[in-house]
Amino acid sequence: MTDLPYRVAPEISPFPSGSAALSDDSIEALEQADKRHLWKPFTQMAGYIAGRPLVIQDACGNWLRDVQGRPYLDGVSSLWVNLHGHNHPRIVAALKEQLDRLDHATLLGPTNVPATMLAARLVQIAPGDLTRVFYSDSGSTAVEIAVKMAYQYFAQHRDPAERARNVFVSMTNGYHGDTLGSVSVGGIDLFHQVYAPLLFETLKAPAPDPYHVAFGQSVDEHEDACLTELARRLDAHAGRVAALVMEPLMQGAAGMLAHSPRYLAAAAKLARDAGALLILDEVATGFGRTGTMFACEQAGVEPDLLCLAKGISGGVLPLAATLATEEIHDGFLGEHNEYRTFFHGHSYTGNPLACTAGLASLAVFREEDVLARVQDRIAQLAARLETLAEHRHVGDIRRHGLMTGIEVVRDRSTGAPFDASLRVGARVVERALDHGVLIRPLGDVVVLMPPLSITPDELDLLTGVVLHCIDEVTAELAS
Ligand SMILES: *Cc1c(COP(=O)(O)O)cnc(C)c1O
Repeated sequence: MTDLPYRVAPEISPFPSGSAALSDDSIEALEQADKRHLWKPFTQMAGYIAGRPLVIQDACGNWLRDVQGRPYLDGVSSLWVNLHGHNHPRIVAALKEQLDRLDHATLLGPTNVPATMLAARLVQIAPGDLTRVFYSDSGSTAVEIAVKMAYQYFAQHRDPAERARNVFVSMTNGYHGDTLGSVSVGGIDLFHQVYAPLLFETLKAPAPDPYHVAFGQSVDEHEDACLTELARRLDAHAGRVAALVMEPLMQGAAGMLAHSPRYLAAAAKLARDAGALLILDEVATGFGRTGTMFACEQAGVEPDLLCLAKGISGGVLPLAATLATEEIHDGFLGEHNEYRTFFHGHSYTGNPLACTAGLASLAVFREEDVLARVQDRIAQLAARLETLAEHRHVGDIRRHGLMTGIEVVRDRSTGAPFDASLRVGARVVERALDHGVLIRPLGDVVVLMPPLSITPDELDLLTGVVLHCIDEVTAELAS
């Protein structure tokens, strides 16, 4: 397993050759400032401060480079946001032009050109009858808004019988962001426990998780059992459920827990039959990650509310959107003094620069035929993963399109994990960094989520390094 191309990482990066290292003094100053003043997301700062930070200074294509001048392949698209590579010339040019024209103007009152144009484009590409675009700036707010919209829609429904719908059904292991509303509809205990008294209650339905819950059993049967549980909750609260909230095809943050399009279609139908709205969170799965523009297309499912963020700006600027049907939007129409208005908005709602990046990213999809071209990379990834799947410490590989989770286990015959204190996922990721590949684990799941623009050589490097590092790290731990 050692004849893999892992050491060639720096050589195949597209950065021009020559030293790009900052001076030792500058690096020292940066590292000190970082350790003293930055409070990092999802990070135990005690361990962080004790280590040495990886300080990124620039990017080229699918690569990032640190202040020492070392290149790293961006194997998780800078946490699932980048689509077309960094500093894509089409997006950079559009942003430079927009920056000379208009930086920001409020969407409270006036509107602006890029926000209007992007709304029209999003509606064109969105599944089903989504006609209205409400902007915000993160995946968390996109979900928060969808939840508030669904709640208010029913609270002021013209049919009084519908006003009893104030309950949300959400999924175990769901992740929808970190604001209190999006945490309330989430299902990852580790992130949610401490805030429990601040959250509102939801009905939790078991999401499919055959590997951990029904090891060795039929996936179809497991998914059917999950559907039965979902139906049971909807029945028990008939006439009271406002919406079902879920991530279609892939529960990302939970560790890439996948379900079938068949399950998604059946769950959506159960919600609809119960008179509930369907809120799909495509913050991670949207914009081509699963091989189609939106994951729900693969199940022929059309949501009432669709949450978008992460890839929406090509991964360049913070932007999010909650798309709604005309029917939901109509429910908010009335005279001022009827107070049917959706009282929600942010200072930077519809920021012209972020929307320009979104428009340019969609132009890249068209001009470079991205969705057609990525099919070859998906096939290549699937083939490489077949080799990985044979490794004695790889228990499960879950994938839709380029979204991939590789679960590293102690014993693949039983699915028994390594002891959590061994941090096997983190060790694999640390080792990969030595080989010029930047990825991030979710527990013992090694996540691959390369940009849609990844080249064949880069994809071989990514999978080769990951296989090599899993092999090395597990051999060390087992001995
Ligand atoms: C990342 C993510 C969010 C939260 O998005 P932020 O921009 O980090 O607030 C919500 N839902 C899903 C499915 C995500 O993957």
